[in-house]
Amino acid sequence: MEPMIQVENLCKSFSTKNGTVEAARNISFSIEKGEIFGIIGLSGAGKSTLVRCLNLLERPTSGTVRVNGKNLTKLSEKELRKERQNIGMIFQHFNLLMQRTALDNVCFPMEIAGISKKEARKKALEYLKVVGLEEKALSYPSQLSGGQKQRVAIAGVMAMEPKCIVLDEPTAMLDPNGRKEVLEAVHQLNRQENVTVVLITHYMEEVIDADRVVVMDDGHVVMEGTPKEIFSQVETLKKYRLDVPQVTLLAHELKQSGVDIPDGILTTEELVNALCQ
Ligand code: ADP
Repeated sequence: MEPMIQVENLCKSFSTKNGTVEAARNISFSIEKGEIFGIIGLSGAGKSTLVRCLNLLERPTSGTVRVNGKNLTKLSEKELRKERQNIGMIFQHFNLLMQRTALDNVCFPMEIAGISKKEARKKALEYLKVVGLEEKALSYPSQLSGGQKQRVAIAGVMAMEPKCIVLDEPTAMLDPNGRKEVLEAVHQLNRQENVTVVLITHYMEEVIDADRVVVMDDGHVVMEGTPKEIFSQVETLKKYRLDVPQVTLLAHELKQSGVDIPDGILTTEELVNALCQ
């Protein structure tokens, strides 16, 4: 099966007053359909630049990006606009219209796209339900928590039925509760709608349940694997100045002090089981 997204030898540099910034250096990977793909790395590592290249919001300096087998770098502006609809983008600032209800916010992009009011409303309610906000349909953004607002924004993107959603630090502005709600909604959309998910985050805990994770550092992809494979390498992550999930760190320190437990413990349950054995 064709990958959802295939990136080959992607480079992106910016010319600035102080010289050239190499934000993405020779990056290659593919993201399979239906996958949750996490991207982690320090601020400035190149994560946003990379994902902005995925739908050519940012044009790569060299290399190719294929979405559903189509090489985006070869398309005309018109063709590109059409292909972009396959990738929904969600950012940390949820741009909701304050004078519109949650329902009308979700309807807004559909109205612009010319979908009938009735059809838009039906879809909006459907997606508000998937993100767990059916009962808030008639609330205004000012009456919603941060996590609820972000979920409204996500429902709005999903209502356009993209094949893939790219979330660039969607939880950065939220409290722990809001982060949890947003993450759960994203997983629910992935399971129920089979939407492919690309998730950038600097909270390591948020990619524990991803299918695969890449680590970026200084424009390079420096690690790639399952969360277990990545978080087994505590010392390498430290080298890139990344945290590991608290439980993983605790397990690692227990192991270093002589307790016999496996690498890559990701949950409290795994740690308890390992200790009981
Ligand atoms: P991250 O998302 O991991 O924080 P970014 O992709 O935002 O990283 O940035 C990677 C590097 O590229 C940084 O050094 C940043 O300053 C630089 N950069 C990003 N966008 C631009 C731009 N439009 N012009 C110049 N430099 C940029």
